[in-house]
Amino acid sequence: MKEDIFVTRPSMPPLEEYVEEIKEIWESHWLTNMGSKYKQFQAELEKMLDVPHIVFYCNGHLALENIIEAMDFPKGGEVITTPFTFASTTHAIVRCGLKPVFCDINDSDYTIDAKKIEALITNKTVAIIPVHVYGNMCDVEAIKAVADKHDLKVIYDAAHAFSVKYKGRSSACFGDASMFSFHATKVFNTIEGGAVSFHDDELVQKLNELKNFGIHGSEEVPYIGGNARINEFCAAMGICNLRHVDEEISKRKTVVERYRSHLKNVAGIKLSPVQADVEPNYAYFPVLFDEAVFGSNRDEVFTKLAENGIYARKYFYPLTNTFDCYKGMFTTDNTHIALEISMKVLTLPLYADLSMDDVDRICEIILLCKK
Ligand SMILES: *Cc1c(COP(=O)(O)O)cnc(C)c1O
Repeated sequence: MKEDIFVTRPSMPPLEEYVEEIKEIWESHWLTNMGSKYKQFQAELEKMLDVPHIVFYCNGHLALENIIEAMDFPKGGEVITTPFTFASTTHAIVRCGLKPVFCDINDSDYTIDAKKIEALITNKTVAIIPVHVYGNMCDVEAIKAVADKHDLKVIYDAAHAFSVKYKGRSSACFGDASMFSFHATKVFNTIEGGAVSFHDDELVQKLNELKNFGIHGSEEVPYIGGNARINEFCAAMGICNLRHVDEEISKRKTVVERYRSHLKNVAGIKLSPVQADVEPNYAYFPVLFDEAVFGSNRDEVFTKLAENGIYARKYFYPLTNTFDCYKGMFTTDNTHIALEISMKVLTLPLYADLSMDDVDRICEIILLCKK
C-alpha cells in the first residue's frame, strides 16, 4: 500500500538551520512582542516584496480583521467582495460589522470580475476586498480605476499570492493594503502567521496597537484592540523559510508542469490559464471537470482519488455566501459563475517534494475516470 498523499505538505527548513536561528531567542528570553527576530524578518520581507511597510500577525485572518478595523469604516458599510474564497475573507468583513456584497468572478482566473463591480456600488459602499485566488492576480488596474472613481478603499486578500509579481511589481504593492497568510499550508509559512503590507506611514502605529489590545505606550489605550501578535519562534521560522522560498517555488513549478503535461489536452478538463505579465508562485493546481464531456463529475473524481489514498480538495466549495451561518442573509443570484466553478473544481495535491511518480499516478487515476 502506497503512502497517503495529502493536498499539501508544509515546507520546513533543515532542523539545524532553525535551531541556529532560535539560539538568540534562548539567550535573550525575548519570546514575543516584536523582538529582534520580528524586526529582522520585517526588514528582509519589506526589501523582498519592495513595499515600505509590513506588519506581522499571528495569522492571516486577524491581519485582515485588523486592517479592516484600522480603516474606521462606518458600521453597516457595504464591502464588495467575492464568495469564491476561504471562509476567512467573508467572515472578516462580517465580524467587523460590515456587510459583504457579492460580486461574481470571471471564468478564466476565478478572481473578481472587475466589470461587474460598479453596478454593485451604492451610497453605503466603503471598500472592495478582492482575492488573488490560487495566486492568480486580480485585474488590479480595473479595480483601482473603479475604486478611485468612487473613492473606495481596496484591501486585497493576498493569502495565496506571496511572491507573485504583476508587471514586475510584487503583489504586496497594490490597493490600500494587502493581507498575506503564512499558515503552514501556504507557499511560504511561519507555522502560523500573517501580515499586512501597505504604503501609508500613518497605519504602522495603529496596526501595531490594534494587535496589542489597543495599547499605546504604557498608559494610554486609544483602541479597543485584541491580541493578534506573532511570536519570535514564528518570525524565526519565517527568516529560515525565506531563504528557501525561491527553491520552493521552482520545485512547485516542476510539479505543475508535470500535471499540465498529462492533463492539458483532455476533453472535459479545464486547467487554469497562465496569466499574462504575471510571475506566478504555483500555489495551487485547480482543475475543472465538465461532467457532460468528461463523463465523471468532480465529486466522483474526488472519491476515486480518495479511494487510492490521494486527498485532493474541493477548494473553494461551498461558496461563502451559502454557508449555514449566513442562512437567509445572502443569495447566489449575482454569483452564477462562482457557483458553477465551485461545483466543478478540485485542487490537486501540490507541494515542493511531491514526486513526479506521484504526479503521474494521480493523473493516471484521474484519466481512468474519463468515460
Ligand atoms: C489561508 C487563507 C486565509 C487565512 O489565513 P490564516 O493565516 O489561516 O488565518 C484568508 N484568506 C484566504 C484566501 C486564505 O487562503
